[in-house]
Amino acid sequence: MERDVDVLVLGGGISGLAAAGRLQAAGLKTLVLESAPETGGLSRTVRAGRFSYDLGGHRLYFSKTSAREWTEELLKDSRLLRPKRSSAVFTGGRMLRYPPTFLNGLLYAAPVLFSRGRKAPSAGEPATLKDWLETRLGARVHDRYFRDYTRKVWGLGTDELSPLWAERRIGGGFSVKTLLLELFGGKLSSKENVSRFLYPENGIGELPAALAASSKAEILTGAAAKEIIFSGGRPAAAVFTHFGRTERVNFKALVSAIPLRSLLGLLPPLPGADPAAVRYRALVVLFAALKRKKLSPYHWVYFPDRDAAFSRACELANWSPKLAPDGRLPMTFEFFCDEGDDTWRMSLNELAVLALAAPGTRRLTGEFEPGELAVERLPHAYPLLYAGAERPLAAAKAALGAFPNIFLCGRTGSHAYMDTEECLLDSWAAADRVQNFIRASQA
Ligand SMILES: Cc1cc2nc3c(=O)[nH]c(=O)nc-3n(C[C@H](O)[C@H](O)[C@H](O)COP(=O)(O)OP(=O)(O)OC[C@H]3O[C@@H](n4cnc5c(N)ncnc54)[C@H](O)[C@@H]3O)c2cc1C
Repeated sequence: MERDVDVLVLGGGISGLAAAGRLQAAGLKTLVLESAPETGGLSRTVRAGRFSYDLGGHRLYFSKTSAREWTEELLKDSRLLRPKRSSAVFTGGRMLRYPPTFLNGLLYAAPVLFSRGRKAPSAGEPATLKDWLETRLGARVHDRYFRDYTRKVWGLGTDELSPLWAERRIGGGFSVKTLLLELFGGKLSSKENVSRFLYPENGIGELPAALAASSKAEILTGAAAKEIIFSGGRPAAAVFTHFGRTERVNFKALVSAIPLRSLLGLLPPLPGADPAAVRYRALVVLFAALKRKKLSPYHWVYFPDRDAAFSRACELANWSPKLAPDGRLPMTFEFFCDEGDDTWRMSLNELAVLALAAPGTRRLTGEFEPGELAVERLPHAYPLLYAGAERPLAAAKAALGAFPNIFLCGRTGSHAYMDTEECLLDSWAAADRVQNFIRASQA
């Protein structure tokens, strides 16, 4: 089967769906291909028997009122909860509220109070995350808060990671002073530390579901793009499989919201673009419904220490009572790993044993029943910005940029660490560029 569209969108996560909705609304015939059986990507809420769980708890928070209002309007048929964030860090055998209260701020602050950023090791930009952190916060804060947890989250040391991630998530102006203001003055340096957030009562999956329902674009799930075909020196068609059948779609413009490495794999080799240089950190999400009522008041708890194999646990009843039917205690445990490594290949039971053997969760052992466990493995959960990634990433994007009808968008498509709001804004901006391109090519 062969079809023609104005715009082909690859990926039915929130970015692809947001771009497609805007393009179709602008009168461009738009088709979305999503390889998974359902849309939503990382922002799915998955069913496990009587339960539902996010792929790691997803909050909605915004820096732009217009984006928040747009999202509230989109979700007007959902019940949006507005909880006050409640989270903690379990470290050294102690549960500490995070962001800190004034009193436990002292515990966090001890290494900070005597710390001082140092001069950059050499002229110019810091080459690694370690340089970036030590320059702003000093070696003591780096060693206490960042060295081990970074290795756990990213699988690499701070000296093997690029400062790009910190620039984006923490911000270039961060210093000992801003950290102390955050600890004691309640002055937030990071957008993620907002005290209230929005949460659809049936899980974050209500967001992509509403995006898909409101979009007039055609959306094919179970449709994996396999190859991009060129005509006249530029991308002109895609071959994809859909329920075992091979189909072809011709397009004027291509929007990619799939992993950047996957997009490069669909194209003939491009000069200077090395797909292997585009790397990811994977995530395994374990779901367990425990036979008890409540464990803590927290939405989530970070586990930075090495003796816990997972990095974050979410208590779903605290996110929404709808996620906790039957008075059970549904939880998710997030294990950072690399695709194919030992953790990635662990069975459900092995993961559950690991989750419930950690110091902070040991008392839960025996509280779950077989059959009330589930697992999701996400190979492209996080763009991995290793030290030196800047150059090959720029080269890959430059090679793609040589084709005026390819547009990247969103976190996964652009290989940039974006939250939901940033994905929406980035995808709408990409949709605007597509419209300009099509208008200009018709003129
Ligand atoms: C654990 C975790 C917690 C998070 N928490 C928050 C939070 O609290 N708040 C927040 O704002 N953000 C959060 N985020 C970020 C948020 O999930 C992402 O920003 C967002 O979901 C990214 O959407 P996307 O569409 O860009 O990419 P994705 O969701 O990755 O979508 C890409 C899609 O492309 C599809 N695809 C891949 N290959 C192909 C192919 N060949 N053909 C067709 N389709 C293909 C995939 O199946 C996928 O559906 C979190 C992320 C993670 C991993």
